[in-house]
Amino acid sequence: MQQAPLTFYNSISRSIERFEPIDSEKGVRVYSCGPTVYSDPHLGNLRAYVFTDTLSRVLRWKGYALTHVLNITDVGHLTSDADAGDDKMEAAAKARAMSAWDIAAHYTAVFRRNLDDLNIRTPDHMPTATSCIEEMLDFAKKIAPEHCYEIDSGLYFDSTTVPDYGRLAGAQDDAGEGRIDPVAGKRHPQDFAIWRKTPPGETRQMEWDSPWGKGAPGWHLECSVMGRMYLGMPFDIHTGGIDHREIHHVNEIAQNQAYCSCADTGARFWMHNNFLVDRGGKMSKSKGGIATLDGLIARGVHPLAYRLMCLSAQYRSELEFSTDNLAAALTRLKRLVMAVRKHLPDPVEATATGAARAEGHPAARFIAALDEAVSDDLNTPRALPILDDLLAQKRMPAEARIEALAEFDAVLGLDLLRLTRADLRVRPDGATLTAEAIETRLAERREARANKDFAQSDAIRDELTAAGVEVMDGDPMGWDWRPEL
Ligand code: AMP
Ligand code: ZN
Repeated sequence: MQQAPLTFYNSISRSIERFEPIDSEKGVRVYSCGPTVYSDPHLGNLRAYVFTDTLSRVLRWKGYALTHVLNITDVGHLTSDADAGDDKMEAAAKARAMSAWDIAAHYTAVFRRNLDDLNIRTPDHMPTATSCIEEMLDFAKKIAPEHCYEIDSGLYFDSTTVPDYGRLAGAQDDAGEGRIDPVAGKRHPQDFAIWRKTPPGETRQMEWDSPWGKGAPGWHLECSVMGRMYLGMPFDIHTGGIDHREIHHVNEIAQNQAYCSCADTGARFWMHNNFLVDRGGKMSKSKGGIATLDGLIARGVHPLAYRLMCLSAQYRSELEFSTDNLAAALTRLKRLVMAVRKHLPDPVEATATGAARAEGHPAARFIAALDEAVSDDLNTPRALPILDDLLAQKRMPAEARIEALAEFDAVLGLDLLRLTRADLRVRPDGATLTAEAIETRLAERREARANKDFAQSDAIRDELTAAGVEVMDGDPMGWDWRPEL
């Protein structure tokens, strides 16, 4: 079957463009700005990686060989994106009385566990910034003579030395410069650090010798260097959160242009995911909200419900975090799992073979529609109702159903062939009752109601509510309880 043409929104041209790899021999080369490992990633950060995982899944599903790099920032990212404040790693180390290296190791492990829980495939390379200090120094030495100047606090990039500085940021409505904090001695407010010197009399936990004195690299440098090291430049796609369109990627582009002495930005497509927003303060850790994936699991929510919540919005739209949205995603996941298990009662191990794409296959039209949706700038919200339609088919041979669902699992990563009703019963951390105890109490409650003993039925309900279990009477999907969010 003919595949749908693949198109993405390119932040550089501010338009939807047809995607073709630069060099089909090399496959598709993708670089994603990774996390700064100084604290638990919050759910917003993880939205960025559900997006890159969807991108990577769609590319592979459509037959491209892919090399995906996701860097780990373990030095250089200051508390402000624009060269002001402390290094986030050093600040976290101080606050927690740990070494910056231990902080990095701990939060890298948390990040990797979060990726696993969300069914995010491990990228091919996950290099750390500290592993390529030599290469960053070589890069800095090459661009320094024509593009940089030295002041007390370090080596700075003169943003007027490259053509079109800030063209990428022009794609956004907010005035970017408002966010740039002043650093004494900079020639222009938007100039940025390539190397930050350790102030005299101070020692940093993470510092290295350089021609400009002991210090640490500026944050933007690592991505220009690692992208070039692992993928070669220009590569096909560079991703990041929409905040990176304003400063970080603008500065990466300036560095890339300085390095190649050309106008090339370093990547053919620049793609940015919009934010997970939290108007109700539900994501705020300090307010006791569900800030992290572990926090969400502790409330009894299966992590793939969060993945499904992300997929229910296109990556370029803002997505509101609320308990209603989360509860709706959990319900939707349960409905999907029940629809699969109705026809395929036991978990199935199967991978996408492409069989269901073939003309004449009973599910071919659903797979073609899936292809249309995700090839249109990763339109996952449009793909989900197609999955519902497929699952609503009553008379499809089991083999065909499995082949079709394997294609959806390959693209959406929802693990529908494997998940069972029991898997979705995540026990909240604070629960004082086991799932079996809940079922027993509910059976007793049903009996009380059958005997019209409503006082006893209400007493059981109140007892369960006190234990963090919401009793659901007459739920159309047949779930009799859910964790209270
Ligand atoms: P950081 O660890 O701060 O470097 O951020 C990791 C990634 O998460 C970056 O690509 C950010 O742009 C992205 N990001 C940060 N906050 C959010 C949010 N609320 N929603 C979506 N992406 C975000
Ligand atoms: Zn980056």
